[in-house]
Amino acid sequence: MKDIICPECKRRIRSYEIECSQCGFLLQKYLQDNGINDLNKKILCPRCGKEGELSGALEVKCEFCGIPMVQTKYSVQEFANKYNDTLKGVPEKIMENLSIGMFELEKMIQSGDTKILEEMIQIKGGNPYELFLKEQFPNTFDQNELKKREEQEKQETEARLPRCPRCGSTDIRRWYAPIDIDSGSYVTRWSCEKCGKSWMN
Ligand SMILES: [Zn+2]
Ligand SMILES: [Zn+2]
Ligand SMILES: [Zn+2]
Repeated sequence: MKDIICPECKRRIRSYEIECSQCGFLLQKYLQDNGINDLNKKILCPRCGKEGELSGALEVKCEFCGIPMVQTKYSVQEFANKYNDTLKGVPEKIMENLSIGMFELEKMIQSGDTKILEEMIQIKGGNPYELFLKEQFPNTFDQNELKKREEQEKQETEARLPRCPRCGSTDIRRWYAPIDIDSGSYVTRWSCEKCGKSWMN
């Protein structure tokens, strides 16, 4: 049974709860009003494409757009298969364009080579996943909103990275300094690769 992120207070609640015990949000009514009745189906934002699945819990209202998520008619696997169908023939084209074989292509995919996406964009005439979302949500999907959301998510991730308290660099290293050799106890220390500051927390 999946948990749901309460659209109102963002607390995790059980998906069968009638209302959020913390803020009183009427969960079942919300789900019913928005046609969400099968949590095994692929659920996502029809505007920015944000995925409903969020580290084990389900987001039923897009935090970025402030609108209800939509339940597609496909299971998560079916949805992935449907997307993969739109990529039929693309790997062959990429190999042809770059004059490489299957082995090199797989190596490029594994190493996250950005050339692959560039080639896909050229072959499909746009980012294939964005084109796929546009096809799924022709009236609501907005590519610019997806880009804005991804940019915001990137900034949030960067903001969460630990930083050097002196120069603000994220190029820091954690190490363990022994405080008592006999008992083997140690403290966690950090040092900054950029300015050399060393600190404890
Ligand atoms: Zn709540
Ligand atoms: Zn959204
Ligand atoms: Zn520093």
